Amino acid sequence: MGPVIIESNLLEKPTSRLQDVGFFVLGASSMIISMKPEATTEQIEHVCEKIRSYGYIPHPIYGETRTVIGAVGSGNNRAALQALEGAPGVESVVAIRQPFKLVGRELKPQKSTIRVGEVVLGSHQFVVIAGPCSVESREQIVATARAVRAAGATILRGGAYKPRTSPYDFQGLEEEGLKLLAEARETTGMRVCTEVMTPEQVELVERYTDILQVGARNMQNFALLKRLGKAAKPVLLKRGLSATIKEFLMSAEYIVSQGNPQVILCERGIRTFETMTRNTLDIAAVPLLNEISHLPVVVDPSHATGKRSLVAPMAKAAVAAGADGLIVEVHPNPEEAWSDGAQSLTFQEFELVMEGVKKYLPLEQKHL
Ligand code: PEP
Ligand code: MN
Repeated sequence: MGPVIIESNLLEKPTSRLQDVGFFVLGASSMIISMKPEATTEQIEHVCEKIRSYGYIPHPIYGETRTVIGAVGSGNNRAALQALEGAPGVESVVAIRQPFKLVGRELKPQKSTIRVGEVVLGSHQFVVIAGPCSVESREQIVATARAVRAAGATILRGGAYKPRTSPYDFQGLEEEGLKLLAEARETTGMRVCTEVMTPEQVELVERYTDILQVGARNMQNFALLKRLGKAAKPVLLKRGLSATIKEFLMSAEYIVSQGNPQVILCERGIRTFETMTRNTLDIAAVPLLNEISHLPVVVDPSHATGKRSLVAPMAKAAVAAGADGLIVEVHPNPEEAWSDGAQSLTFQEFELVMEGVKKYLPLEQKHL
């Protein structure tokens, strides 16, 4: 075979363009080291040690039949990693092609599951997170928790720190809101999901919540993502308003690479030219994310449409697209909601959404 001729304009941007045309290997340095099924613990530890010494971080994944080790990082010693092919217990060494190393299926083909109390995201269980946009009062949050739980939701949502487009809009009850969420958790037994906006807030919010939510506006707040990588609780990461799937997964990679593997991806609509809906639900993102990432994926039909009447059909679409769950806004009296009233469902409307969803779940081998 003759030499491969690469057009000079492709060489100008070696990492991006070459990857686009399939020349992954030149730009890639993170590798997957597959151990033989009979490899010993000592051999695995030896390979991990070598990986560290070359300036990479080893991420062992212990499968049922064998261990694979991701050598991930900005080290520049691909040849040394490749040479591990000759180390005892090693079966093969191959490059990870995608820029998202740890959250991609190349390194970890099997789906990840994330446990939140009794609930397991990424399993046959379809997990519904529901509640108001903002926590407003004890009565509001407790009544909503009871209603959504009775309808089949297992996790309560409610914002205490609100990222609002206008500085004059309600900004959330802050710690008082967290306390009310904790009370609702106590009285109903439901687990809780609430947003955290800054790295400094993580410690406090983590004390009250079961899932730490990153809002769309903060998807690329890298300081926040890094801090959440040190948190002990699962993170629900919302897709940015105009983020590509690759950017979305790179944000998830920030969290996982800092040590927290528990990331739930949330498709919540993206900004397009359309003005009749608040956002455009990128429903194809759901099966695509499932193809290329092992992380659980949930859909937010409330923010994706901004319109109450569209929540039920989009919730069913999410099931059909293979989502692992939903996050839905529900309010005792949406007309008087302090935020996002137009997309919030009444208790009765939420019950109808759940009725619809339940009919579709068996088709996808899922259940509540
Ligand atoms: C929310 O969940 O209330 C919220 C602010 O969502 P997003 O970040 O997706 O806009
Ligand atoms: Mn909202």
